[in-house]
Amino acid sequence: MSVPLLIQTSINKSRGETAGQVKKFRLSGKFLMRKAFVAGNWKMNTDSQGSVSLADGVACGSMDIAGRSVDVAVIPPFVYLQAVVRALNQSHIAVGAQDMYYEEKGAFTGEISTSMLKDAGCIYVLCGHSERRHVIGESDELVNKKVTAAISGGLLPIFCVGEKLEEREASQTNEVVTRQVKRGLAGLDVEKVSAVTIAYEPVWAIGTGRTATPQQAQEVHAMIRKLLGQMYDAQLAEELRILYGGSAKPGNAAELMREQDIDGLLVGGASLNADDFVAIIKAAV
Ligand code: PEP
Repeated sequence: MSVPLLIQTSINKSRGETAGQVKKFRLSGKFLMRKAFVAGNWKMNTDSQGSVSLADGVACGSMDIAGRSVDVAVIPPFVYLQAVVRALNQSHIAVGAQDMYYEEKGAFTGEISTSMLKDAGCIYVLCGHSERRHVIGESDELVNKKVTAAISGGLLPIFCVGEKLEEREASQTNEVVTRQVKRGLAGLDVEKVSAVTIAYEPVWAIGTGRTATPQQAQEVHAMIRKLLGQMYDAQLAEELRILYGGSAKPGNAAELMREQDIDGLLVGGASLNADDFVAIIKAAV
């Protein structure tokens, strides 16, 4: 499988030694690996000064490892993107956006396009975060349009999936996540999908302080990887990074990332404190 140009871009940004937590495995005699990835979703928090000092604090604390042993991204509110990109200019930390619209330009008041985000310096974009699915009401079909447009526009989507508490309690986790993955990636071929990072974020664990156990998370990650193997091929399934998100913090980050199929973390609350976020980044190494 060739490495798409846009992925190459992010690899170049984080060029360096991969001495950190790398999941290595052999497939049909080939040696493959997944480098750890930690991303901080700031949601609707910070202000112009606070976003820059948070970015500075993360860059300072993770200087020796970010982009080398572990890929790192911060995901600020739209209005602070450019200030944060400037603040991180000398670092190996990438910047992502929390959402986007699938149309390129025109009469879509309040929306933002992939080219605008790229112009602002973004590399990643969240698609289908549970707060957008369940607070704003985004459907699987809309999320699919966003993932598709993100890839076509040269951004790397972090595609979020996850079940609600009542779905887990009704033993519907695999069914719900399978449906979200299939619909969210519909129409994308193996080369395009290789630009995606999946984030498994059980809704009941987001912002609640209730983390999935490493075993609960690993079970779903393994299920998603198996599903990717069925939808695409074994190499894609082994190479695609699957992050866990849901009340990750310094105290539980290492044990989560130790699991075979957990390749990193999407962090909300704990990414708003530079020391905590840096401790989580370090837990990936
Ligand atoms: C998130 O917003 O994606 C998230 C995982 O939030 P938290 O870490 O606060 O649960």
